[in-house]
Amino acid sequence: MAEFSLIDRIRARTAARADIALGIGDDAALLQPQAGLQLVVTADTLNSGVHFPPETPAADIGWKTLAVNLSDLAAMGAQPAWCTLALSLPDAQEDWVDGFADGFFALADAHGIVLIGGDTTRGPLSLSVTAMGQVTPGTALRRDAAQIGDDIWVSGTLGDAAIALRAWQGGTLDVRGPAEDAQVEHLRLRLARPTPRVALGRALVGLAHAAVDVSDGLLADLGHICARSGVGARIDPACLPLSAAARARVGDTHARDAALRGGDDYELCFTAPPAKRAAIAGLGERLVLHLTRIGEVVRGQGVVADGSESGTTGYEHFL
Ligand code: ADP
Ligand code: MG
Repeated sequence: MAEFSLIDRIRARTAARADIALGIGDDAALLQPQAGLQLVVTADTLNSGVHFPPETPAADIGWKTLAVNLSDLAAMGAQPAWCTLALSLPDAQEDWVDGFADGFFALADAHGIVLIGGDTTRGPLSLSVTAMGQVTPGTALRRDAAQIGDDIWVSGTLGDAAIALRAWQGGTLDVRGPAEDAQVEHLRLRLARPTPRVALGRALVGLAHAAVDVSDGLLADLGHICARSGVGARIDPACLPLSAAARARVGDTHARDAALRGGDDYELCFTAPPAKRAAIAGLGERLVLHLTRIGEVVRGQGVVADGSESGTTGYEHFL
C-alpha cells in the first residue's frame, strides 16, 4: 500500500471539530484554540519491543498509543482537543493500519480528541503522538503545587499492568488476544488497554493541588511531585489499592510491590487538602472510580513508604 492511500485510510476515520480550520491534507493543520484558554501540549512515543510486546495486536497498540498521551493531558487537568500521529512502519499492511485505527479512534472519539495531521515513514515499528488540550489559565494540575499537609490519593488500582507484563515475560500470559480466565483477562486489559483518567483530571481542577499520572511506578512518579514541590511524601503500603486479580495472581506482598514500583498503570496520583476529602469521595462515586487516600505530604524530601499507620512492618525510603 502506498503512503498516500495509507494516510487516506487514516483520514477517513477522523472526526470533525468546529475549532479545526484545516485538518489532515495540507502541509500543516490550522487550529483555532478557544480565546482565553491555555494550550496544553504533550508527546509520547511507543516503540515495539520496548513499550509493548512485539506480538501485541494492532488495535491494542492503537489504543495505547493515544491512551498514554491522554493520560498526560488528564494529569494536567486538561480537556483533550487535537493530536498528531507520527507512524514508523516496517511495511504498510492495510489490515494492520485498519486494526490500529480501530483502537486509536475508539479512544479518540470517546474523548472528543481529533487527529489533525502527522507523518508516515518506513522503519522499525514506532508510534508517536503529540496531544493537545486546553485549560483555563492558572488551573492546570502541576507537579510543583503539592503542599505540606495535603492528602495523597490514587485512582483505580495499581500494579496490574506490571504483573501482566511479568506474566507475559514468563510465558504465562498471551497478549495476542482475550484470555479465558476472567482475572487473567483483567490483567491483560490493564496492560493492553489502559484507561486514561480524563474525566477525573478535569474534575480535580479546583480540588487537587498537584497531580501526576502513574506511568513509571508510584514511587517514581510521586517522587516527581516531591522533587518539583520541594516536599516529602509518606505513604502506607497497606493502603495501596490492589485488584482482586493482582492479589490472586501473585499474592498480597508481590502485588503491593508491583503497586509501588510497577509502571504502565496510567492512574492518577494527586495531592489535595484534607478539607476536600468529602468532595473527592463524592467525585469517586460520581465517576464510579475508586479513589484511595494512601498517605500525606510532609516536610522533607523523597517518598517514605512505612507501615506505622497500618501496623505492618517494613520501612522503605526512596529519594
Ligand atoms: P509533508 O510531506 O508535507 O509533510 P505528508 O505527505 O507527510 O506531508 O502528509 C500529507 C498530509 O497527511 C499532512 O497533512 C500530514 O499531516 C498528514 N499525515 C501524514 N501522515 C499522517 C498520519 N500518520 N496520521 C495523520 N495524518 C498524517
Ligand atoms: Mg508538505
